[in-house]
Amino acid sequence: MYYVGTIGSHSSLQILHGAKQEGFATLVITEEKRKRFYSQFKFIDRLLIYENLDDVVTQLNSYSNSLFFVPHGSLIEYLGKERVEKLNIKIFGNKYIFDWEANQKKKMSLLKMAGIKIPESFESPEDVDRLVIVKLPGAKGGKGYFIAKNKEQVKEGLMKLKEKGLIKSEDEVLIQEYVIGVPMYFQFFYSPILDRLEIFGIDIRYETNIDGLRRLPMTELVEPSFVVVGNIPAVARESLLPKVYDYAENFVRVTKEVVPPGMIGPFCLESIVTDEQEIVVFEFSGRIVAGTNLYVNGSPYSWFYWDEPMSMGRRIGREIKMALEKGLVDKVTT
Ligand code: AMP
Repeated sequence: MYYVGTIGSHSSLQILHGAKQEGFATLVITEEKRKRFYSQFKFIDRLLIYENLDDVVTQLNSYSNSLFFVPHGSLIEYLGKERVEKLNIKIFGNKYIFDWEANQKKKMSLLKMAGIKIPESFESPEDVDRLVIVKLPGAKGGKGYFIAKNKEQVKEGLMKLKEKGLIKSEDEVLIQEYVIGVPMYFQFFYSPILDRLEIFGIDIRYETNIDGLRRLPMTELVEPSFVVVGNIPAVARESLLPKVYDYAENFVRVTKEVVPPGMIGPFCLESIVTDEQEIVVFEFSGRIVAGTNLYVNGSPYSWFYWDEPMSMGRRIGREIKMALEKGLVDKVTT
C-alpha cells in the first residue's frame, strides 16, 4: 500500500482528498494544535503529530519506500532547506527547483532563459528610475515587501528592513519594476507520463492592504502591503491563453535543460496583464500553489482535459497512479 502525504497546511486538504479519490492511503503530519482540525476529515487515514521540526524529518523518513510526499509552499518555510535535504523519501516533483525558487534572482533568470517577458530589475538602489517593488527572499507570503517611487525611498525602505532584522544585507532583496495592470496567476500541470502540459486554472491573490485600499478613498494614508490572505478565482480572455501556454511550454523545456529532470506536476506563472494585453511574469512557483484550492471539484479548464472533477490534488494522485501502473515512478519523483 502506498501513502500520499504532506504537511498540514497550505493545500494539504486538497492534496489528500485528491489522493484518496485516486485510491491512495493518506497521511498528514502536523503540530498538536492543529490535530483537532485535521482529524475531522475522513479522507485522512493517518495523522502524525510532530514535536519539533527535526522530528518531522525522522517521522517522514520512517516511511521510506511507501510514501509519496507532496511538497507545497509551506514546506521550505516550515522545515528550512537543510531539513528538506535530509528527507530520504520519494518527493513528488522536482526538488532541485526549490533552490531556484528560494533565490529571487535565480528565479527570474530561469524565466528569462525561457524567453518569458519579466519586469526590469535593478542591481542597486542607485539605478532605480521608476516605480519599483522591493521583495524579500523566500516564500514569506509577501511579508515585508514595499513599493518605492524613487531611489531615496528604496534606500529608506531597506534601512527599515534591516532595523527590523528582516534582512541582513541589501543583496538579499530583489528590486523590481512595478508593472501596472491586473494580477493573474496561471496554474499549470506538466505530466511527464503523458508528456502533456495542461493549463489548470487561474487565480488572483487576495492581499492586504493593496486590495483593501480600493475601499478607502484616502489611499495616501496607508502604505500598500502584500500579505496573502486568500485567493479569488478568475478566467482569462481566451486570447490570452495561447500566449501564456507558450510561456509555460518554454518554461518546461528550459527547466529540463537547466534543472533536470525539469518541471514535474504543478507550477504557476504569477503574472501581471497590462493594458496592451501583455503578460509580464514576475515570479513562478515550482509546485502546487494555494490558488488551486479554489478548484476542489475541477476548474473551468481541467474539465476540458478530463471530463470529470479533477482538482490539482487529484491530478497529482492520478499522475502517481499512472506512473506506478507503467513502472515509471522515477519520472515523477526526485
Ligand atoms: P510575490 O511574492 O512576488 O508573488 O509578490 C506579491 C504580490 O506583489 C503579488 O501578488 C502582486 O500583487 C505584487 N507584485 C509582485 N511583483 C510585482 C510587479 N513586478 N509588478 C506589480 N505587482 C507586483
